[in-house]
Amino acid sequence: MESVSIRDVSLSFGAVHVLEKLNLDVREGEFLVLLGPSGCGKSTLLNCIAGLLDVSDGQIFIKDRNVTWEQPKDRGIGMVFQSYALYPQMTVEGNLSFGLKNQRLPGDDIRARIDRASKILQIEPLLNRKPAQLSGGQRQRVAIGRALVRDVDVFLFDEPLSNLDAKLRSELRVEIKRLHQKLDNTMIYVTHDQIEALTLADRIAVMKGGVIQQLDEPLTIYNRPRNLFVAGFIGSPA
Ligand code: ADP
Ligand code: MG
Repeated sequence: MESVSIRDVSLSFGAVHVLEKLNLDVREGEFLVLLGPSGCGKSTLLNCIAGLLDVSDGQIFIKDRNVTWEQPKDRGIGMVFQSYALYPQMTVEGNLSFGLKNQRLPGDDIRARIDRASKILQIEPLLNRKPAQLSGGQRQRVAIGRALVRDVDVFLFDEPLSNLDAKLRSELRVEIKRLHQKLDNTMIYVTHDQIEALTLADRIAVMKGGVIQQLDEPLTIYNRPRNLFVAGFIGSPA
């Protein structure tokens, strides 16, 4: 079964066509990296999948369910942004439990989910701190934790490491890969960084100008780029 299917999705901002009849099938449990230069439409596509933007045309399916017009909260999706988007006035624990309390989950259940997520992400000692008292890497772990406690089917990451320094970036890259191996969730991960794409992905979708140029496994993309743009962008030998 496909986990996420994008069917002929177009999106325009006024006269600017950002996505052009885009098609993409993401497999159940796969780590799919959307790779492309700044401005090619990666965030726009992710926001359409999450339901934060309405498509102009086309359809989006999650596990064969047409979610094109479903509310973001009903889609079974958790999104992690570049800028963390934590609530500054709440503790880490407050940030993790906020969405769950809105869902009216029982307290025991909330506790168990927070324990599990904070263990997996190694943020147990940080639960009583406020976001301002955390490093960038710790904030991003909390942001991932917020998706984890919601028990979502699909994780969407929008350049989650680009605000971190090189050392934290490589640490968290390993962490995210480990998380995927542990959970078996479908993950769609947006980046403009070729190294991230090549090291994290089961498959890479290379995007340019709102269109997917090639969708293949990392080695295939690297060794057999379909066109000059893909070759140049992935940095493979000419
Ligand atoms: P990426 O994430 O790949 O850098 P985006 O999806 O953010 O690219 O943006 C794709 C294009 O859409 C860019 O040209 C951007 O300027 C434009 N765009 C994005 N959001 C808006 C908006 N809200 N209104 C108008 N244009 C937008
Ligand atoms: Mg973006």
